[in-house]
Amino acid sequence: MRAEETSGQNASAAKDGRYQEKYDVVVIGSGLAGMTAANVLGRGGHKVLLLERHYKLGGLATWFRREKGEHIFDVSLHGFPVGMIKSCRRYWNKEIADRIVQLPRIKFDNPQFSLTTTFNRDDFTRLLVEKFGLSEETVKAFFDEARNQTHYDDQSRTTRELFERFFPGRSDVWRLLMEPITYANGSTLEDPALTYGIVFSNFMSKGVFTFQGGTDLFVKMLRDELTKNGVDIATNAPVEKVVVEEGRVVGVKIADSAPNVESPEIGGVSKVVSPLLGKTIATRAVLSNANLKGTIFNLVGRKYFDPDFVAEAEAVRLNNSSVQVYIALKPGETIDEEQCGDLLFTSVAPEFSSDLLLSRKITSRTYSFYYPKTRPGTDRYYAVASSNANYEDWANLSDEAYEESKRDLIETTLDALDKYVPGIRDKVAYVEAATPKTFKAYTDHWLGASFGTKYEGLAVSRALGNKIPGLYHAGSVGIIMSGWLGAVNYGVIVANDVDEFLMRE
Ligand SMILES: Cc1cc2nc3c(=O)[nH]c(=O)nc-3n(C[C@H](O)[C@H](O)[C@H](O)COP(=O)(O)OP(=O)(O)OC[C@H]3O[C@@H](n4cnc5c(N)ncnc54)[C@H](O)[C@@H]3O)c2cc1C
Repeated sequence: MRAEETSGQNASAAKDGRYQEKYDVVVIGSGLAGMTAANVLGRGGHKVLLLERHYKLGGLATWFRREKGEHIFDVSLHGFPVGMIKSCRRYWNKEIADRIVQLPRIKFDNPQFSLTTTFNRDDFTRLLVEKFGLSEETVKAFFDEARNQTHYDDQSRTTRELFERFFPGRSDVWRLLMEPITYANGSTLEDPALTYGIVFSNFMSKGVFTFQGGTDLFVKMLRDELTKNGVDIATNAPVEKVVVEEGRVVGVKIADSAPNVESPEIGGVSKVVSPLLGKTIATRAVLSNANLKGTIFNLVGRKYFDPDFVAEAEAVRLNNSSVQVYIALKPGETIDEEQCGDLLFTSVAPEFSSDLLLSRKITSRTYSFYYPKTRPGTDRYYAVASSNANYEDWANLSDEAYEESKRDLIETTLDALDKYVPGIRDKVAYVEAATPKTFKAYTDHWLGASFGTKYEGLAVSRALGNKIPGLYHAGSVGIIMSGWLGAVNYGVIVANDVDEFLMRE
């Protein structure tokens, strides 16, 4: 019998779940990279065990319900590039791919400009020429340069230098080009131009897309496909150690208890006990989807790596974290789609600044508006306001100061949203906030990183297999391998490495 996901909904199945003592590969973590890798490997005929510390699958691709399920909020379903359709069709199934639809109205509102766009190359060219007064040649040359960058190019060139070359002194153009990408993966003007070029060009090919039906349906469809492909799944099963013997991976040790994740969604703390707690599972390979640094320093341990690699891994910088405010409207209250669009990038700062985007004194907010069309069959409206944030601004507060800061985040967000949804305070049925501490608690990402690591993390992640035979990592790294599409695609790349390793062995 197949081991079952031990989410709150099917607790009884967990008790009966039977697992093997040995697997070809154990995947640690069920983020999009972990799940996709598990699916590709399971489909390829390998015996795969997917272990997740949380009570549900998805990692940052998640959702939560409140007030006995009356409200449902998506945490990271705000938009991804069209490439997700192809990746889902190839590495998942057609039904999942067919639910991916375009978000047609992307809006900007800041002191420098207000506009609506379909967020693709044609429309951006039109805007840059007609509204921002640039020449068509310059715009074409910029798009070509952004798209044609490769990993062999000079990595020391920054996005700032790229912009300076094409649009000197045009802070309004920089803002249009940079603000959404900073929001999409936390990158700044000082990151390599390559990372900007890849992500920007991915979006510019066709615009911004979403999954119709919500993250809950998306993850359910992924889980069904994993099960179909023979992947054994255990939630509430945190891996404590990757077992290394004679320089190679031989197993994983699962902790004696799962983290107490408190959630009103399941009526308190998850009570499900995985039958795998405290067990060691033998395996030929481990693919960790956990935080890159957590994998190296906590799950494996520095003593298993050479000092140069340890130094390289220590030097990897983490990306920033996020704050979010989730707002549910009362039944019958609506949001004006024409006025708000699907995704609205707002700022009250006079010019774009990476530092300001991270400041606790929030000036930039990106609103995702969820209309009934997001989840066909419902008639409710939601807004989620997201901003980038620093872990340090939240982690060291006293309990009281933390709660006060959260309250302030909610109040200032409602004030700001009133410009776009007039009378919002009278329309709100439920509101809640998440901080970098929430993201850390949920995924165990160091510093609550929302988008993994900076560019140098990619080489460290890729090198693991050469350091310890059988050890792999897939998950948000290097800016380009983050986000829904980046994580899915990186999962596939690393699954192929694992497959090759298993076949070779
Ligand atoms: C607020 C926010 C908004 C975002 N918006 C967007 C967006 O609009 N578009 C977009 O494309 N991307 C967005 N992202 C980013 C996107 O969600 C992530 O890049 C992507 O989901 C990360 O996938 P991942 O595979 O790296 O794994 P993660 O989602 O990081 O999951 C890792 C998993 O590993 C598990 N784990 C960790 N340690 C262990 C252990 N020891 N044992 C077992 N399990 C373990 C964790 O619990 C987690 O489930 C957003 C992220 C945030 C935080």
